[in-house]
Order: sequence, then structure tokens, then C-alpha cells
Amino acid sequence: MVHFVGAGPGAPDLITLRGAALLKQADVIIYAGSLVNPALLELARADCEVHNSAEMTLEQVIGVMKQAEAAGKTTVRLHTGDPCVYGAIREQMDALDELGIPYDDVPGVSSFCGAAAALRAEYTLPGVSQSVILTRLAGRTPVPEAESLASMASHGASMAVFLSGGMLERVQEELLKGAYTEDTPAALVYKATWPEEKTVRCTVGTLAQAGEEHGIRKTALVLVGDFLDSRYERSKLYDPAFTTEFREASR
Ligand code: SAH
Repeated sequence: MVHFVGAGPGAPDLITLRGAALLKQADVIIYAGSLVNPALLELARADCEVHNSAEMTLEQVIGVMKQAEAAGKTTVRLHTGDPCVYGAIREQMDALDELGIPYDDVPGVSSFCGAAAALRAEYTLPGVSQSVILTRLAGRTPVPEAESLASMASHGASMAVFLSGGMLERVQEELLKGAYTEDTPAALVYKATWPEEKTVRCTVGTLAQAGEEHGIRKTALVLVGDFLDSRYERSKLYDPAFTTEFREASR
């Protein structure tokens, strides 16, 4: 059996209880070494076989899983954040389906949640934005034209831009083609929840400069939107004048 497990954004105690239990039991661990905090490997059994997928191809990863399965072993495939966001898990799952190897998926805390926590921010402020766009700039992996950063930016919604820390000038340029202005609040969050976490608040107009000044390129998220500002309307859910399924309006 193969368990895909979300490692969380970095801090080792942000993995789920289920994910940690699977790591402790695993015979084989294949972890995404470029982003997963190696401190999580301390949970592994002393005799656990550990592979770093940063140095492997898909074929090699599947090869290790296949060998482990043939020996009746349990494999944990440890991905950063939640595996369902830029985790490249689908191609692994399809290969396992072809081989008849069973698997499941244990969610994790995605880095866009870790980044919001670092900033004590809420993406979905009433009167500001009720949507979060998770996206990236096209790089060596193309992005469908209809999802270009500029067109995503046309909504003016709350946005978390992944995998683009090294291209901040282009990020800034594309964002400005949309509904954001030079003054729209933005932030860079480097290694959210890691000990070396860094947060830099800026505006869309100063994104590239902020990245340059703080030396932020990799393992960073760009957050954009007025949710980073201080203005919003209070929630209906906790408004005394609002009746809900669980509570009568008190005034
Ligand atoms: N599955 C992961 C994303 C993997 S893609 C998740 O759910 O978070 C890798 C990108 O995620 C990085 O380029 C960076 O943009 C972002 N990222 C991952 N961990 C991060 C962290 N701790 N802090 C900031 N950004 C992070």
C-alpha cells in the first residue's frame, strides 16, 4: 500500500495526526526533498528506507513503490503542504492504478494557509473578497492561456501565487494588467511556518523591489489583494441581528 501524505507547510508539528502515524509505521518513505522539512524524517523508524524524490524521476519513484509493494511493504510518499496543490500526484496515482497497487491520500496544511497564518490574515473578508485564487506564473510548466496571471488578476480577488518567487518582476507586471493597482496590498511569505520564516508586506507596485531587498526568490508565496488591508465589513454569521440555523437574532 502507498500512502500519499501532506507534510504541511514546514513546521514538523503541522502534519496531521494520521500523517504522522503513517510516517512512524512506514517501511519506505519517498519525500519531496526540495520542500519537505527533513525534521519530519525523525518520525521514521530507524530501519526505514528513505528516498529523496528531488533527485529522482517519476519512473524511479514508481520503481521504488513497486519494489516495496512486491515485498509487502508500506510506502509513504511525502509531499509538501497538501498533495493536491502542485503535487504531481495524479501521474503517480495513474501509474499505481496501472500496476494494481492500492493507495490513499492524507491531506495536509497547504502553504497558502501557512502563509495566511504567518500574516494573521483572512482571505475571505466580507465586503472585500469571497474567493481565493490559487495560481502560478507560467514558467517552464505552461499555464493555459485562459488562466494567465493577468486574466486571473482581472477578478481583483484574494490571490496566492505559487512557484513564482524567482519571477517577481513578471508577476508584478501581470498583476497590474488586471484589477489590482500599484497600491493594492501584497505580501511575500518565505518559508511559512519554518523557523526561518520571513514575511514582507508591500504593494503590487513594490513587489519586485521587496523581493530584491529581502533576498526572497524560492519557497515563497506572493499574496495579493485588499484582504491584506484593514477595511472590511463584519461577518453576518456572528452578527447579533442575524438569525442562523443555530441561533436566533438577539436584536
Ligand atoms: N503542495 C504544496 C505546494 C507545492 S508547489 C502546498 O500545498 O503548499 C511549491 C511552491 O509552494 C513553492 O514554490 C512556494 O510557492 C510554495 N510553498 C511551499 N511551501 C511553502 C512555505 N512554507 N512558505 C511559502 N511558500 C511555500
